[in-house]
Amino acid sequence: MLIRFEGSVSREWKAALNKRLAGLLPGAKARPSAGGLLLSGFAPALAADAVPLLENMPGVLEVKLALEELCPLACAAGTRHPPARPLDFRRGFIFIAGPCAVEEEASYLASALALKAAGAHALRAALFKPRSSPYAFQGVGFAGLKIIAKAKKLTGLPLVTEATDTRQIERLASVCDVLQMGARNMRNYELLKEAARSGRAVLLKRAMRATLKEWLLSAEYLLMHGAKNLMLCERGDAVFSSDSPGLDFAMLREAKRTTGLPVLADPSHSTRDRALACAMALKAARAGADGLLIEASAEPQTARVDGRQTLTVESFSGLTGAILCKKKR
Ligand code: PEP
Ligand code: MN
Repeated sequence: MLIRFEGSVSREWKAALNKRLAGLLPGAKARPSAGGLLLSGFAPALAADAVPLLENMPGVLEVKLALEELCPLACAAGTRHPPARPLDFRRGFIFIAGPCAVEEEASYLASALALKAAGAHALRAALFKPRSSPYAFQGVGFAGLKIIAKAKKLTGLPLVTEATDTRQIERLASVCDVLQMGARNMRNYELLKEAARSGRAVLLKRAMRATLKEWLLSAEYLLMHGAKNLMLCERGDAVFSSDSPGLDFAMLREAKRTTGLPVLADPSHSTRDRALACAMALKAARAGADGLLIEASAEPQTARVDGRQTLTVESFSGLTGAILCKKKR
């Protein structure tokens, strides 16, 4: 923790600060640092509430916490042995593929089988869709549970599904292997807590424009509330255009470096176009992503949601081949 002062400070003021520090952060050791004091040796769990109280002191310019102090569990997450199920990232690049939303049974099952044959390790199985328009298709809801359960039985592949409400978690977790916390819900802390308690693996997307710190604090919520198997997913800040890079690869690498967790990339929602998504997926693999969460299906042209960014099975198959072939070299 770095406490920066406004200019020089009196001895009485320092004594008042030390008194406050002893109360707020017992055991903290302070040493002088440029323009202030650097604190170590305190319990990170006490730091978040200490910061505003220290900032309240006249003469304090700012109080800053390092990422390891803000989210100690997330920063140490990679030191735990990574679970091999439902997705084994140690064995190589992971493809999670499927349509944007589960719609009709026959086409979902056809997609599931074809995507497995083309190299998918898990299926996108979204029953609840967070849509910008309340008039737009919101997903088939729980009626789709029997469809995705059939796909799981047929393919043997794990299911990745987005939960948009705490009340969905229990039923989704009874069938699905990974609960996706979507970009819009990265900051829905009650949802994160409930997903963590379910015991299922959790995939946490970065919200648009969220900083690394905000993303990792959301990961901290999940880990603190019992998530044992966590993966992150970079989904970009905005829709791809000539002046927007789509995915933030520097952020992706930094998330991997600081947490040691697997970090996937979503090239579909960051580009909104299937040709661009393919190119972005290749870039993501080169940039160090551990896998992809990508929209692909047997019938993108009939999809009610995101059809234009959904890869055909043929292009998904070409993509898995290209990525795996490059990784082997
Ligand atoms: C999704 O992956 O289905 C999705 C809705 O993406 P995002 O949360 O990144 O918008
Ligand atoms: Mn989509």
